[in-house]
Amino acid sequence: MGNLGNPRKTAEILEKYNFDFKKKFGQNFLIDANILDAIVSSAEIGPEDTVLEIGPGMGSMTQVICENAKKVIAVEIDTKLIPVLTETLSPYDNVSIINKDILKIDINELATEYGAKSFKVVANLPYYITTPIIMQLLEAKSLIESITVMVQSEVADRMKASPGGKDYGALSLAVQYFAEPKVMMKVSPECFMPKPKVESSVIRLQCYEKPPVDVKDEKLLFKLIRASFNQRRKTLANGIKNASFLNFSREEVVEALLEMDLSETVRGEALSLEQFAKLSDTLTKD
Ligand code: SAM
Repeated sequence: MGNLGNPRKTAEILEKYNFDFKKKFGQNFLIDANILDAIVSSAEIGPEDTVLEIGPGMGSMTQVICENAKKVIAVEIDTKLIPVLTETLSPYDNVSIINKDILKIDINELATEYGAKSFKVVANLPYYITTPIIMQLLEAKSLIESITVMVQSEVADRMKASPGGKDYGALSLAVQYFAEPKVMMKVSPECFMPKPKVESSVIRLQCYEKPPVDVKDEKLLFKLIRASFNQRRKTLANGIKNASFLNFSREEVVEALLEMDLSETVRGEALSLEQFAKLSDTLTKD
């Protein structure tokens, strides 16, 4: 079958399998071999690594990963792509294809099943579920070593944003609690078939062994973050008071803010991860 990362081979396969792209699965396939190589080298995959690829599509990136990794587990939701993958990946004996929805897979069970200590994740993600996938991976903690993925550029900007800007929010804080984000490259819509309507970027999240801040109650920290950005234009104290999943009065929050030398009218977007952690600890009832 040879290298798939080019428009001619992609068109050939589409025709052979009578395959139609499905918008509902976020199918924009990469057709540029240089970009495929660049993503895989950004992921720094070596012969000891087990790689989890989400959405292998026709297998063009999977082939490059197979050449570099010890083992590749490729999870694809679209049943119509399974015969394609069976053919394109037939030269490799270090790949397992799983026909499932990644969001329904338990990463713990996957690790046990394949005897993997941890995974490096590599993917050209389906954009319609970027955030739930990233959260699922980050919450699997020590089982995920790094995540190197193609996402919408706007989402990459949100993941790496610092306090104060318009891009900063719950996603920035969640990502930065679990990992160090680094944008590796921008990718033009021309490199995909069909072309997406948005700009894309490859981002690498290097997961921490231990979060960069200490917090007594991690669940409370994330509820406070969610509440603070739920109503972006409200003050943080009002956002937290209004959240149905929290039980703090405005006065309790204001008292905690003043104790931290912050104004009672401060908004969530002004607080750093350290400050959210401190607020969470102040509000934790021992
Ligand atoms: N990796 C291929 C490439 O780069 O050419 C395809 C990338 S395409 C942007 C996203 C892929 O994710 C598609 O193959 C799509 O069918 C698959 N996909 C969409 N939703 C999924 C889900 N919930 N679980 C697993 N795969 C999914």
